[in-house]
Amino acid sequence: MTKQRESATVNTSLQDLMPKLDVDRVGIFSLAEWKGTKLEATALRLLPQARSVAVFAMEIYPEILDLVSAVKTTGAASLNDLLDSNAEFLSGRLTKAAYDTARAFHSIGLKALPLPARGCPMDARFLEAVFSYKHAGQAAGLGRIGWNALLITPDLGPRVRLSCCLTEATLEPKNASMNMNLECYSCGLCLKSCPAKALTEPQDDEQYAINKFACSSFRSAAGGCAECMRVCPVGR
Ligand code: SF4
Ligand code: SF4
Repeated sequence: MTKQRESATVNTSLQDLMPKLDVDRVGIFSLAEWKGTKLEATALRLLPQARSVAVFAMEIYPEILDLVSAVKTTGAASLNDLLDSNAEFLSGRLTKAAYDTARAFHSIGLKALPLPARGCPMDARFLEAVFSYKHAGQAAGLGRIGWNALLITPDLGPRVRLSCCLTEATLEPKNASMNMNLECYSCGLCLKSCPAKALTEPQDDEQYAINKFACSSFRSAAGGCAECMRVCPVGR
């Protein structure tokens, strides 16, 4: 066994490697806990040696979301631009956290793949990213996916952006003991407020039900929409 392989089996704390991660939340899970799932398959497709996934989250401020409107007036200033600028800022920080983490693992001879907050490749046929950050966030105990199809965290609600880092290191899971029943209140506010009628009440075997194509077309036409994120009472 090579030195690199030996070190990959060491139970490593991400915090020991990266004491200065400038993000609001970090969650970690082991792929061994998700054997046979799509989450494991998509992670291994990207990094066949992957054993653990770190997920990073930063808050989207509610003050900014409260200014976002799905109604566009031709020629008028769009306050939705503030959300875009905010997303750019948060994405920069989150992407840096993912790359800094990968760099720390590379420095000790371990493989790691950073996945940026913006620009994860999408399968346009299904509007599906090659790796689902929100499912990774749920697996990492950061929260639970709600009826609005977003990751709902207990204190920041769905108002978070995410990035990830896959690594062959065996990391200590973080947040794994979180009570996973606490987040979505099933209040239906997101369903009622969706201007594209893209959200419907999930069936018993579903966590959420979204018509991604209706959502995406509406957002393109309206110049943005974040109603389902804005109205969610969790963490407000
Ligand atoms: S972003 Fe807007 S259109 Fe898309 S699901 Fe949320 S509320 Fe509906
Ligand atoms: S608005 Fe209500 S139903 Fe929708 S995700 Fe938030 S808590 Fe769940």
